[in-house]
Amino acid sequence: MILVIPLPHKLFPDLVCWGLSGNGNFSTKTVTWAAHGLDLVHKPVWEYNWLQKLDIMPKLKIFLWQLCHSSLPTRGTLSDRGLRVDPACPFCHSEVEDMDHLFLHCTIAQGCWNLAISHNWINANLVFSPQLTVLQMLSTTCNARPNVHMDRIISLLWSIWKIRNGAVFRNTSPNPGLTLIRAKQANVERRIRHKFTHQFQPTHQKLSASTRQMKTTHWVAWRKPQGGFIKINFDGSKSLQGAAGGFIIRT
Ligand SMILES: [Zn+2]
Repeated sequence: MILVIPLPHKLFPDLVCWGLSGNGNFSTKTVTWAAHGLDLVHKPVWEYNWLQKLDIMPKLKIFLWQLCHSSLPTRGTLSDRGLRVDPACPFCHSEVEDMDHLFLHCTIAQGCWNLAISHNWINANLVFSPQLTVLQMLSTTCNARPNVHMDRIISLLWSIWKIRNGAVFRNTSPNPGLTLIRAKQANVERRIRHKFTHQFQPTHQKLSASTRQMKTTHWVAWRKPQGGFIKINFDGSKSLQGAAGGFIIRT
């Protein structure tokens, strides 16, 4: 075994390497895989890797990651893990609160989905059979063509989770209308953040690598605000002798 290791042409100092990782660095993940006798080379790809590519807010990504790992602390999950909690759904009190019931099959959840469909906010061909799981629904809709507004579906799931938390922790009444409004707000917030992040990026960061190579000149100038808004530009300075500031308001 030692004899078949190719010798380098240059002299290098000896290094301590962890043989189970690709980069030679130790990681607990590789130890876990090895301890379970799993194949590190042909390890299966996580089937929800597509969520990394979704253009949604970080808080929704974290929520979705928990959802896809079945780690949202629903009452049914907590009860299964040995916590002494009432596993009943906080909305209907007639079924165990697991993810599938809470997000798809509960009457409150169905009211939210039906309202979103009747508002044409999400695609009308979403059909929730009694056997459908929320993870199956996500996988199906993610692969569906034409586009089914995955971002809106995730916003609505997140909003259902928020009203569920309101019912559990603040004793608030669930309301499908308000749930849909909150989902729409979350979706609009994402678009606004996306737009402003792009708008206020330094000009050199906006340019793609290819554009930068072309060394194109991009002029940055004051722009008139739209929609009846007033724009205020301000600046100030401070020294030991005093401070001064100024601003200009333009419409
Ligand atoms: Zn329920």
